[in-house]
Amino acid sequence: MDIDDIANRIRKGERRALARAITLVESGREDHRQKAQELLERLAATPGYALRIGLSGTPGVGKSTFIEAFGTMLTGQGHKVAVLAVDPSSARSGGSILGDKTRMEHLSRDPNAFIRPSPSQSALGGVARRTREAVSLCEAAGFDIVLIETVGVGQSETMVAEMTDLFILLMAPGGGDELQGVKRGIMEMADMILVNKADGDLKPAAERTRADYAGALRLLRHRPQDPEGFPKAVCVSAVEKAGLTDAWAEMQALADWRREQGHLDRRRAEQARYWFAEEVRRGLLARLEHDPEMQARMRDMGEQVARGDLTVARATSDMLNVLGAAS
Ligand code: GDP
Repeated sequence: MDIDDIANRIRKGERRALARAITLVESGREDHRQKAQELLERLAATPGYALRIGLSGTPGVGKSTFIEAFGTMLTGQGHKVAVLAVDPSSARSGGSILGDKTRMEHLSRDPNAFIRPSPSQSALGGVARRTREAVSLCEAAGFDIVLIETVGVGQSETMVAEMTDLFILLMAPGGGDELQGVKRGIMEMADMILVNKADGDLKPAAERTRADYAGALRLLRHRPQDPEGFPKAVCVSAVEKAGLTDAWAEMQALADWRREQGHLDRRRAEQARYWFAEEVRRGLLARLEHDPEMQARMRDMGEQVARGDLTVARATSDMLNVLGAAS
């Protein structure tokens, strides 16, 4: 694989080159890893500033229907839309449902859209790195909106919120007035809540749910990176394609405001710092777990600690010194 050639073709927006490059960053092979790094460095100079939108919601809430409708609306306005997925279930089962092309039939055939399912069979931490790298590749290929879809199960949301400019929570109309067991942490991450399925018989329930969430969001916080009135809760119907333009207008208003105030750049800078620290931590752990020499040392020191020949404190600091020295 010629890195210069593939970089050039990505810059020209060639989808096949983009797909191959994403496969490269997803690979666990060491030689692939090095090529991927080279490619990402080569492309880092390419200007590209996509709006990165995270979209989360429990299975069945309508994520793929929404992305199909919303993405098609955006490409209709002249945007180029990439859809990536972070699927925590695929890390365990090896199967992936998110970002599945068969679920977004129209969008997947749209020449101005690019859909990539979640990389499977990898730890969530690995998925995060690959997804971030895929985002950079999509930006270099000229996509100006990158949607990152994830399923609502906790850890993956934090990860997606840490790599996006806006984090959107998709909800379904609830039965009663209680807040559908949404974890507070997830609500705190949300820049906007979209209550989907606001159509037909579900419409009144959707409006009640929207009002409940709007109230909860108001109570929860007003952050300096939010303009007046945000975070908002808005009703949409992915099936009837209703409320999508309004939802998009709200997202743009929020993003524009944050861009003007410098919050977007600051958020990205913080995210870069966060992922750097996270990757170093992961790298150290991986070395501890996979390096036979480190493993032997751990076992040996573990024995000494068990016998009482070494205190836990001393063994820990010695071990950490060795790990530090080995880098
Ligand atoms: P996902 O698992 O979150 O991706 O959800 P899907 O997009 O697969 O949708 C789950 C179910 O909800 C499907 O039967 C959809 O037809 C239905 N659905 C999605 N959006 C809407 C909507 O706006 N209104 C109604 N009434 N049903 C919807």
